[in-house]
Amino acid sequence: MSLTTSLPDVSDRMLFAVPKKGRLYDHCLGLLNNIGIEFNRKPRHDIALVSNLPIALVFLPAADIATYVAKGNIDIGITGLDIIRESQTEDDVAELMRLGFGKCKLQVQAPVANASATSAQDLVGKRIVTSFINLTRKRFAELEGVSEDKMKTQVRFVSGSVEAACGLGLADGIVDLVESGDTMRAAGLHAIDTILDTESVLITNKHMQFPEMAQIIRQRVEGVMTARRFVLCQYNIAREGLERACAITPGRQAPTVTSLEQPGWVGVSVMVEKKQLADKMDQLKLAGATDILVLQIANARA
Ligand code: AMP
Repeated sequence: MSLTTSLPDVSDRMLFAVPKKGRLYDHCLGLLNNIGIEFNRKPRHDIALVSNLPIALVFLPAADIATYVAKGNIDIGITGLDIIRESQTEDDVAELMRLGFGKCKLQVQAPVANASATSAQDLVGKRIVTSFINLTRKRFAELEGVSEDKMKTQVRFVSGSVEAACGLGLADGIVDLVESGDTMRAAGLHAIDTILDTESVLITNKHMQFPEMAQIIRQRVEGVMTARRFVLCQYNIAREGLERACAITPGRQAPTVTSLEQPGWVGVSVMVEKKQLADKMDQLKLAGATDILVLQIANARA
């Protein structure tokens, strides 16, 4: 694949699109670092060659990445699920994995002061402002289908600061991404419907030329996500307590059990999900485990 003449030769490289700014940018740079992708991006250049893999990073607006991947101009990329759905590219892109960051909701929001708009159904036939025209039209078409008076909802596009539209008199409701809800509350709005739960996703073109390289990236990302989710827990236990302890900490596959120099005792090493850790440690203590240690996992490969 070639870009333009003044750009580096990327013909033998997998093109990997990364958001060039915005909310996903820092997360993506952190992820690239954690999966061992080394590159040097020159100022004002949107293409960077990866020095240790046959990959070229292409920095693009998050909102355009799904379209580039769907059309095959880019092989693999990171973008939001909301963007894939809004750009109607889901038939042409393969979702390799959800990445666990950029989590938020696409919601219908209405002014708190408008007591007659408490569900999205109440906004059928009214004026809605959004940057997500397609998803909004689809949602309101469903609602119009069950509405008795069959009124058409007016959906208008604005590119940003969508939450201002009701206060300024342009809209009766808005559809926008919401994370904490603070921005909406400050604008006097509240959620009356959730259209989509979204997060960032690793996607590829369904017919891309570098499936092996894409799998390597997927495995590396999976390793980083596993390392973030789990810790390694080690403890000692008398052999007769082992069965109970293993039931408490079954691990991802199975615990590693080694014999101790002390007769009748074993050492156990096992992966435990971070969010369950405190509870598991309490249970292990009750089951007779001693010297319970917790170690961070730097990286993992299943
Ligand atoms: P941006 O480049 O900042 O416009 O954001 C691009 C993507 O970030 C969105 O399409 C969402 O997938 C994701 N995102 C995550 N949290 C939020 C949020 N609170 N508001 C907007 N976008 C968000």
